[in-house]
Amino acid sequence: MNQIEAATNEVIEVLRNRKVPIGISNRHVHLSEQDYNTLFPNEPISVAKPLGQPGHYAANQYVDIIGPKCTLERVRILGPLRSYSQLEISLTNARELGLKGVIRQSGDLMSTPGVTIRSHSGEITLKEGVIVAKRHIHMSPLDALIFGLSDNQEVSVGIDSDERKTRFDQVIVRVDPSSALELHLDTDEANAAGLIGNADFAVIIRDE
Ligand SMILES: [Zn+2]
Repeated sequence: MNQIEAATNEVIEVLRNRKVPIGISNRHVHLSEQDYNTLFPNEPISVAKPLGQPGHYAANQYVDIIGPKCTLERVRILGPLRSYSQLEISLTNARELGLKGVIRQSGDLMSTPGVTIRSHSGEITLKEGVIVAKRHIHMSPLDALIFGLSDNQEVSVGIDSDERKTRFDQVIVRVDPSSALELHLDTDEANAAGLIGNADFAVIIRDE
């Protein structure tokens, strides 16, 4: 092995072992433009806080989620608006609401539960669209190349928290040119791993 090759391998090894930021997704709603306009006529969606993925943000707008068993109040809308509406909750939320918790990838909404969404000035009922997001890790094509991973592949990640060291299997890799490297977990998963905020990191486990 020549010197350049050795140096390159060393760099790749460092990049492969780097820490993956974790984004903890609290329950939230994505809305289509049509559904948004029904809920918030005359109130353009506005940015409260940018999220880890470029262009994504928590909006200033909230809604109430009305389930068969209870109402979840002040659930945040995440922007930008999409071509479809979708409510993402944890399994704990699903139990509270009285809805079946269906674990799916974002956008895979066939045969998922529906729900009623209410704002201060409107109400819509989705026929389907309530999911518990399947845990996933966003990355760019360059990161995928470095890690030796491809879109839709499943990987394992390790989280070295102080008192709840955890390994998550069945994490879907989502490769997109507009993505930043980030593991997305919901609040149930984050609590199980003893994560306390968004300053936590995971590592991708490579089984030899
Ligand atoms: Zn995500």
